[in-house]
Amino acid sequence: CGIFAYLNYHVPRTRRDILEILIKGLRRLEYRGYDSAGVGIDGGNSKDWESNAKAIQLIKQRGKVKALDEEIHKQQDLDLDVELDVHLGIAHTRWATHGVPSPVNSHPQRSDKNNEFIVIHNGIITNYKDLKKFLESKGYEFESETDTETIAKLVKYMYDNRESDDINFATLVERVTQQLEGAFALVFKSVHYPGEAVGTRRGSPLLMGVRSDHKLSTDHIPVLYRCSGKEKKSCNSLPRTDQDTCLFPLDEKAVEYYFASDASAVIEHTNRVIFLEDDDVAAVMEGRLSIHRIKRRAGDYPARAIQTLQ
Ligand code: GLU
Repeated sequence: CGIFAYLNYHVPRTRRDILEILIKGLRRLEYRGYDSAGVGIDGGNSKDWESNAKAIQLIKQRGKVKALDEEIHKQQDLDLDVELDVHLGIAHTRWATHGVPSPVNSHPQRSDKNNEFIVIHNGIITNYKDLKKFLESKGYEFESETDTETIAKLVKYMYDNRESDDINFATLVERVTQQLEGAFALVFKSVHYPGEAVGTRRGSPLLMGVRSDHKLSTDHIPVLYRCSGKEKKSCNSLPRTDQDTCLFPLDEKAVEYYFASDASAVIEHTNRVIFLEDDDVAAVMEGRLSIHRIKRRAGDYPARAIQTLQ
């Protein structure tokens, strides 16, 4: 069970490069054990990344990461040479807890046949039966036996029932996590939010890697955060409030982000990492990262800061 995701923002990459990065990331997580693997990427072969991002393609396979890699290379309709200026690819190795190892039970799990929302998940949702019953009563049709599929459907439910059109991706995910019980690390991708990623965790590990030509350090990252809209401090000393938000408004637009279960999967790309804490919702939107903690629990939180791995 491992999560890996890669978002290039105005760093042109061919689809081949992107898939290679995703597969390599999964390989680095192989030691964690798994029975199937899958990726979710943008389909379409247009030179315009945004139009490709309106069609998500899933490739999933039982067995080894190698088998997934072979399956990827069998896809006739994917132009591997197309260059994507902005793209989010999410990848997963699954250790089945609910539902046998099979392509349909592999992740990413999806909201519907059009892949409007897809999600990768490590962990177990203990109240998935109740959520599933609720969603079925609202007409959502399930295709897998996984607990995870309820998350994909639930985010679509939140979207379908949004109160306004400008609701952001992070807010939808926040609403979803408030309904979930159990353990999870999640990364979401959606046709409705091209070039955006949202990750969150509770109980299962999840970290982010950041890479940019712009020199990143806790000292001179122009970090802004809102703490009841008042002072500004460095990300190193984020206060523990319900509203803390950490933004990396990089001067340079080009930036790459990684999500992973383990630092070993990102270390070859960057040594700048942020370990997400329980109940953090980390969202990349227009190349900027913001992290918001959705609820306060008793006790002190460790500081959530960008760190340099040795
Ligand atoms: N509970 C989920 C499933 O069975 C995720 C398992 C995992 O952590 O890989 O699909």
